[in-house]
Amino acid sequence: MFDTAIIGTGAAGVSAALTLKAMNRNFIWFGSARLSEKIARAEKIRNYPGLSSVSGEEMQRAFLSQIEEMDIEIANKTVTGVYDMGEYYGILCDKESFEAKTVILASGVESVKPVKGELEFLGRGVSYCATCDGFLYKGKTIAVLCTSKALEHEISYLASLAKKVYLTPLYKTPEIEAENVEIVPGMIREIVGERKAEAVRYGERELLVDGVFLLKEAITPSVLVTGLAMEDGHVKVNRQLETNLKGVFAAGDCTGRPYQYAKAVGEGNVAAHSALEYLSENASSKA
Ligand SMILES: Cc1cc2nc3c(=O)[nH]c(=O)nc-3n(C[C@H](O)[C@H](O)[C@H](O)COP(=O)(O)OP(=O)(O)OC[C@H]3O[C@@H](n4cnc5c(N)ncnc54)[C@H](O)[C@@H]3O)c2cc1C
Repeated sequence: MFDTAIIGTGAAGVSAALTLKAMNRNFIWFGSARLSEKIARAEKIRNYPGLSSVSGEEMQRAFLSQIEEMDIEIANKTVTGVYDMGEYYGILCDKESFEAKTVILASGVESVKPVKGELEFLGRGVSYCATCDGFLYKGKTIAVLCTSKALEHEISYLASLAKKVYLTPLYKTPEIEAENVEIVPGMIREIVGERKAEAVRYGERELLVDGVFLLKEAITPSVLVTGLAMEDGHVKVNRQLETNLKGVFAAGDCTGRPYQYAKAVGEGNVAAHSALEYLSENASSKA
């Protein structure tokens, strides 16, 4: 059982991990080992103290070298669900599960708004996870929306199972080499069906499908963590970055604007300290 699970390898997650490591705590850190794509994307960052006019890529390299120096490991996994087990939290990644006494959500904000019908049909033909649900669509027709090139391996996996894949990539130069994949440019506007997802609409065009995969870098936190309170589309937190769920904290862009590195780093640090305080105060209950 881990003391803390950090979800997200952006600036907030990096800061929380450095703080927990410095305090010598036993934690697990989920997300991409290459860190958040957003970090590298900034052309020039002019408002980060101590680093004048650094590029996003330089910032990413600096974070990575500090993580290595501190001997911190990243579990290169995407979390698909967080469940309150009473005494601890169960964290599901594809088919693996982990246990932690506290959770720090540092999952950033979604780069695309939810598609109409997405939440209505989630678990009924709509999935966020290729490795969890791909096998259900062996020999079937699916639509896939993908927000990041880093997730292309999931598309390839789906293409190896499905009969036909309608792919809508929201990034430049998709490089999927499979004959059963047809690129449908633009955006999925709506997922429709009766009891389950049966078709996707792209403007005027409608395609019949057996399932829809939405491969995104970030999943809405309230979908990830059942019962999590939200406010104006962000995780509702207080100044200690506590959420409405005991032992669950949130930091960075997912708690609201401004979307900035300095705020994310500060909040990652506060959330880690709040988790530590919670662990020492609740040594006999969830902690
Ligand atoms: C082009 C661009 C330029 C920018 N320029 C600046 C600037 O000059 N100055 C500035 O202050 N800010 C800038 N920003 C904003 C800055 O990048 C963000 O505020 C910062 O990255 C937020 O950090 P975060 O950790 O909250 O979220 P993110 O950096 O978004 O990281 C969240 C991470 O969590 C991961 N994640 C999400 N869900 C899961 C899950 N279920 N399981 C595992 N991992 C998950 C995501 O994949 C992602 O890696 C810029 C942003 C962009 C896009």
